[in-house]
Amino acid sequence: MYNNFNYKLNYTRKNYMDVSSAKNRIDELINLLNKYSRLYYTRDISEISDYEYDQLYAELKSIESDFPELIRVDSPTQRVGDAILTSFERHVHKSRLYSLDNTYSYDELRTWYKKICTEFQRDDIELVAELKIDGLAISLIYRDGLLVTGATRGNGIEGENITTNIRAIKSIPIALEDKSVSIDVRGEIYMPYSSFEALNDEAKQLGQKELANPRNAAAGTLRQLDPKIVAKRGLAMFSYAAIFDNYDEQPKTHYETLQKLADLGLVTNSNTKLCKNIDEVIDFCKEFETKRFELGYATDGVVVKVNDISIQNSLGYTAKSPKWATAFKFPPEEICTKLLDVENGVGKTGAITPVAILAPVSLAGSIVKRASLHNYDEVNRLGVMINDYVWVKKAAEIIPKVVSVDVTKRDGSQISIKRPKKCPVCKTKLVVPFGEVNLYCPNKEKCPAQTEAKIEYFVSKNAMDIDGLGTSLVKLLLDKGLIKDAADLFALKKEDLLSLDGFQEKLASNIINAIENRRRPSLSSFLVGLSIKHVGKETADLLVGTFDTIEKLKNATEAQIDAIDGIGDKIATEVCEWFKNKDNLILLEKFENLGVEPQVVLQTKISDELAGKSFVITGTLSKPRAEFEKLIKDHGGKTTSAVSKNTSFVLAGDSPGSKLLKAQALGVTILNENSFLDLLRKGDFNEK
Ligand code: NAD
Repeated sequence: MYNNFNYKLNYTRKNYMDVSSAKNRIDELINLLNKYSRLYYTRDISEISDYEYDQLYAELKSIESDFPELIRVDSPTQRVGDAILTSFERHVHKSRLYSLDNTYSYDELRTWYKKICTEFQRDDIELVAELKIDGLAISLIYRDGLLVTGATRGNGIEGENITTNIRAIKSIPIALEDKSVSIDVRGEIYMPYSSFEALNDEAKQLGQKELANPRNAAAGTLRQLDPKIVAKRGLAMFSYAAIFDNYDEQPKTHYETLQKLADLGLVTNSNTKLCKNIDEVIDFCKEFETKRFELGYATDGVVVKVNDISIQNSLGYTAKSPKWATAFKFPPEEICTKLLDVENGVGKTGAITPVAILAPVSLAGSIVKRASLHNYDEVNRLGVMINDYVWVKKAAEIIPKVVSVDVTKRDGSQISIKRPKKCPVCKTKLVVPFGEVNLYCPNKEKCPAQTEAKIEYFVSKNAMDIDGLGTSLVKLLLDKGLIKDAADLFALKKEDLLSLDGFQEKLASNIINAIENRRRPSLSSFLVGLSIKHVGKETADLLVGTFDTIEKLKNATEAQIDAIDGIGDKIATEVCEWFKNKDNLILLEKFENLGVEPQVVLQTKISDELAGKSFVITGTLSKPRAEFEKLIKDHGGKTTSAVSKNTSFVLAGDSPGSKLLKAQALGVTILNENSFLDLLRKGDFNEK
């Protein structure tokens, strides 16, 4: 992690600065930034995060604009950053490779666009929004359709000739589709997450140091003197610009250039949008602020480019970046903040989750005050203490988590975190069930925290999906004594809700109607809503497939449940125990008396084509994964999340993860989207 970021940002200082303090701060910033750049570009080390680097850089730029007479030639604002290494031959670029200006703010992005529109006295200048791939800029030279040179950006004027390594990257064509074309292609070489994970797995097994991120890994790989190593490491490239030798062949717009690159056989990024204005660009940025976590490669922002090449040409360049393009950088995914305290949450199954209470910080678009520490084994693994500075991450999960501790910031005030002995709410002695790491409150039926969590889960989208009934209303209803369990919701009257503060007729009616609409729920969602340990949607569907009424499930033996394909003995035990418990039986009776009648929703099966076949889906497909899952189920097949020797097929989309490697190792048949749909059409899955 980044330990040495001890410099406070001095953004406001310029307003009060005299020349001498400006000079001092400029010197200080240049020294720091150049040091970080050297480490970053020559040794693939990041001592501070990119966000912190960019903040220092923005401060330097801002002071330099107030005191232009103090700009130094070695200022990072005046040159493109990479140093040239000596292991490879130098290559002088025919035309310069630039860096990009960047911003973390939508307002600044609007200002940039407005300035261009004003300059051209237009308000309809088209833009192209494309992902900013977190890798290394590269220049590929094709002569008469053949790859002759591949070179790094270096300092933008000259880079390193790494042609032999470039030839080792499978997705870079050695020959273009059109043999008459001579072109200088610009693009980004990156390491997909799947290759990065495999590389780090190997490093771990060999006891070597793991690499910090895919960018560093890609940079280190391209620096290898042996192309065989490069070939093994699964690098890839997205092309995003082209300069044609024959000027007449140069398309008139950037968007057409991208299309032309794809026609020539180069890989371009499909997540690219031609936008009418900056609002459309901002929508694209917002979309990818979260979608980027579903991609198989790292992206740190969106590059926005003026589409019309003639406008690009008239706008030109600054000392280091084009004026016709800028990068919107995504807010940092990880941030360091102080851990103030630890609270223990009690979940619907009684599991105790330590929750970090944090000094509030802004992270990926929201203010984070709490983060999960998962369980006490994780607390031990992290070695975290109260008053520590911790790194918090918000990735695909909505709830942020603590990922590491900055031990260099310890100042003696740290206090160890104690594993609780009793439930924080009902004070029952906690237990650790055999074979588990979590602490549990065993007071399943009477612990108020578990009751609340169970009702919240019952009404949630995962289970009964009762519109308008959220966490705060459930809490209020419990506090006012209007409900004691989930069944009581079906006894609620409009008057009960109207007795609560702030409840109007319309809202109360809506909620009562939403509850009424669920009086005949699907048996599967009802089962999910009962909070039986390990019973989520997939398991509930499997149970309902064999036992189509609550009564039948209640009378089922452990062996009968265990016999269901896809359900193991652990789940079977939990289900049986749940239906043996007296309090649970009373709850079921209460539901019944209140007229709640779970129904089996008949599956609209189209065919039995895939009966007995199990699929694992990995990677990005052209449509949401759920659509493929439904297709498989509709044809009698099933989907599971992990690859095993019992998996019949792996359906792999773009940038598949480690599941693909596992499938290859186990000899499981791998299908891409087209071959899957083809086989489904022909109905010859049995041939496989
Ligand atoms: P940059 O990486 O921020 O942006 C320019 C680069 O974006 C281009 O050279 C190109 O390689 C790349 N790019 C990716 N997708 C693109 C696309 N679709 N179209 C066009 N270009 C695309 O700039 P830089 O000059 O390479 O590096 C500077 C940045 O590096 C800093 O802003 C900082 O975030 C980071 N840095 C960090 C440290 C550190 O210590 N953490 C040190 C130095 C630099």
